[in-house]
Amino acid sequence: MAEFEEKDKNNTEDEYEEVCYICHRPESVTGKLIKIPNNIYICSDCMQKTFDSMGGFGLGGLDMSFMNPTGSETIDQDKKNPDEVVTSDDEPDDISHDDMHNLNNVDFGRMPNISMINLSDLMGLTQGPQKVKKRKSKDEPIKPIFDVNNIPHPHEIKAKLDDYVVGQDYAKKVMSVAVYNHYKRVATNTMDEIEIEKSNMLMIGPTGSGKTYLVRTLAKLLDVPLAITDATSLTEAGYIGDDIESVVSKLLAAADNDVDRAEQGIIFIDEIDKIAKKKNTNQRDVSGESVQQGMLKLLEGAEIEVPVGASSKNAMVPMTTINTKNILFICGGAFPDLENIIKERLNKESSMGFVATLKDKYDNDENILSNVTAEDIKNFGMIPEFIGRLPIVFTLKALDEDMLVRILKEPKNAILKQYQKLLALDEVDLEFTDGALHEIAKEAREKELGARALRAIIEKFMLDIMYEIPKDDEIGKVTITEDYLLKKGGPVIEMRTDSRPLIVEKRQATQN
Ligand code: ADP
Repeated sequence: MAEFEEKDKNNTEDEYEEVCYICHRPESVTGKLIKIPNNIYICSDCMQKTFDSMGGFGLGGLDMSFMNPTGSETIDQDKKNPDEVVTSDDEPDDISHDDMHNLNNVDFGRMPNISMINLSDLMGLTQGPQKVKKRKSKDEPIKPIFDVNNIPHPHEIKAKLDDYVVGQDYAKKVMSVAVYNHYKRVATNTMDEIEIEKSNMLMIGPTGSGKTYLVRTLAKLLDVPLAITDATSLTEAGYIGDDIESVVSKLLAAADNDVDRAEQGIIFIDEIDKIAKKKNTNQRDVSGESVQQGMLKLLEGAEIEVPVGASSKNAMVPMTTINTKNILFICGGAFPDLENIIKERLNKESSMGFVATLKDKYDNDENILSNVTAEDIKNFGMIPEFIGRLPIVFTLKALDEDMLVRILKEPKNAILKQYQKLLALDEVDLEFTDGALHEIAKEAREKELGARALRAIIEKFMLDIMYEIPKDDEIGKVTITEDYLLKKGGPVIEMRTDSRPLIVEKRQATQN
């Protein structure tokens, strides 16, 4: 049996506000919400409507004027049960058990198109309330994450990125400057005659070259909310797949439902090349050109209604409004055929005039992508309006063998360092010869998955080592050699000469 009670007054310090379970408007809009068991809140308007609809079917006997502070007319015209009338003088908490009993005993079967919810059905439906953080009044400007004076400078951002991301210097530089300018724009909020444009970015680079990793690292270093989404799952609204606006909803979740923080976050849309215009098709292009069209207003800045605590809009989730004006959009993709488009253009350009060059000049150029122009991207199938909203275009290099070796050992959380740390806990040193590292890199390059292949390769041969080493307490050091990787021999194992001091020394080293 549901029992009404007023919303907990002590809750006012809570930074998040409740939303009405039926109309999904927050408390700041609806006025005081009424709490019913299972953390369900209902606004007085919806409560009134619910009782109205019941009154219309002859329930009678319920005076809801206590819900209606304005004192407008209530609904009980035919009071069949005058004893159970709650007068308008009663306190809000005073809905009697009998009233609720009436509510639940109404014969809904006789009522066509009944539009109220059955409260007992809702029990157990909610997994805790879906709350949004309270907003200040609309006119008050949002509090910027960065103050103009404390935005990290581009060289500082790049230096931090250097700790984690190997190579890709150009990409890191472009991103650092773009992010710096972006947050300067947000912090100053200048809307005078010189309006700073948004620094949305388009990054082009082969798979596994570190696109996602760069954005992830950047967001972590700056401590701003980040949402990563895959363009392949997006479709035009109304079709099977995710709505374009679902990306904003993900960002809100990443910002712990704090609208102010979400409005200054970063959205990374991966596989953006997959929404290129489909060629030679007569059907409606719901996952290609239409998605690009749908994204235009997001990229530029628009007020978007997003569901709170869910990825899709439906009747059961509350909604809130997010302005995308200050959200930094970064799109990334491998653009597989783009190289041929660039080559074709370059060949055409260079075959004219006196300085004509050989036709195959660009065939073996691995980093031909760096010559990309907006025209090439348009030829690939992106619409000009879309390209125009991503003013910063840059490319990432394909990772060569040396870079892969550096990725193995240099970053702060390099894969080798992770394994070394794991074995250090068993007081065993782990080393790789240079030959072994190059062999791993060579194998990874053959797989053409970029740095992503490295972990899989290492995990395969480290399995035996991680399995065998803890068996023998006497082992002090393992060296992985090229021969071991090529299955021509085993790893070099060195025993402890004097186990005690070594263990003590290593414990101290790991503690430091
Ligand atoms: P993609 O370009 O396909 O988005 P990712 O960013 O997902 O590639 O890279 C896959 C993994 O490879 C990352 O998690 C990261 O560990 C590693 N990686 C890729 N490039 C680099 C790099 N330049 N420096 C360090 N690690 C890298």
